[in-house]
Amino acid sequence: MLPYGRQSIDESDIEAVAAVLRGDWLTTGPAVDAFEKDIAAIAGLETPAVSVTSGTAALHTAYAGLGVGTGDEVITTPLTFFATATTAIWQGARIVFADVCEDTGNLDPVAVKDAMTPQTAVVAGVDFAGHPIDATGLAEVAHSGGALLLEDAAHSIAGSLDGKPVGSLADVTTFSFFPTKNLTTAEGGALVSSYDEILSRARDFKGIGYARDPAKLRSEPDGPWYYEVQSLGLNYRLPDVLAALGSNQLRRLALFKARRRAIHHRYNLGLRGIDSLRLPATRDGADPMWHLYPLRIVDGRRRELFEHLRSNGIGVQVNYLPVHRQPLFAELGWKQGQFPVAETYSAQEISLPMFPTLTDADVDRVIELVRDFVGA
Ligand SMILES: *Cc1c(COP(=O)(O)O)cnc(C)c1O
Repeated sequence: MLPYGRQSIDESDIEAVAAVLRGDWLTTGPAVDAFEKDIAAIAGLETPAVSVTSGTAALHTAYAGLGVGTGDEVITTPLTFFATATTAIWQGARIVFADVCEDTGNLDPVAVKDAMTPQTAVVAGVDFAGHPIDATGLAEVAHSGGALLLEDAAHSIAGSLDGKPVGSLADVTTFSFFPTKNLTTAEGGALVSSYDEILSRARDFKGIGYARDPAKLRSEPDGPWYYEVQSLGLNYRLPDVLAALGSNQLRRLALFKARRRAIHHRYNLGLRGIDSLRLPATRDGADPMWHLYPLRIVDGRRRELFEHLRSNGIGVQVNYLPVHRQPLFAELGWKQGQFPVAETYSAQEISLPMFPTLTDADVDRVIELVRDFVGA
């Protein structure tokens, strides 16, 4: 079965991991420091990223860094991996959904504006399939209501909008390094921000709330062994072994991006001009990092096309089931029909295979199977 996504591991990745295993540090050491600087550089920021153990942990840590707590509301999209929403609940927030734009599937600033209340603390957009959110529009709506903008960039590291890299567009940006994503540390994630206060709280949170920095201690140390616990945290530390893999993968990120763009282009050329298909849009000024190729079939035959592709060995996927319809949220009163654009997008979507080692011949085979199915 041809998968919809997979990692690219080469000998240099294996060597980078082995080198750490032969050294003195397994967990937080020099490879973590280097990786955090490397991620900040990709995001166009000076201050190092905060690395964590997954994209989910990055979201949780970001909400903690943003100071989200009980009584706060977080506005997000139904068209995402559900962790964008559930991690805010861990911090005590109430989730409020808002609909997406029809072309990109990204959070719609107009819908967000309608959903804002005095309790809104964070607007959490997602760069669906790798296409950046309308960061200007969303930041304007969020900031004018006293809220901050979080960008879940699990799909979009190395993308950009109006020449500005993903990571520099929102108040906080989170990444995932799961194997199917654009680069991998097996499990891993990171967050970036240009606000020192957010980063400092995030660092405390992912480091179990341990305080050792003499500048931050509240009492006079009674010896070099002294530490304080000043806040509630978790152990979300990414180990050196995995950070080394991440830094080595980053050296090929531009190649990965170019190959993903070429595959996207080939699908576009092969599938354009067919009435029953809708191809992913690219907005002016957006330079996406295509993590997915989200094809939409608009004639109601998504299930049939999905099964046709699966039965021919193409491991297609649906991204995503609307989050507000998951039992956890449905039980809170969210209903079918409340977010028609996201619901329709989700009901029509099939993610075609997309990963750097996918060959042109594989892409052409997928195109032929889709064309055969729709009778084009
Ligand atoms: C993958 C993903 C996550 C979670 O990342 P993990 O590393 O799997 O925990 C969060 N948000 C989105 C949009 C994702 O695609």
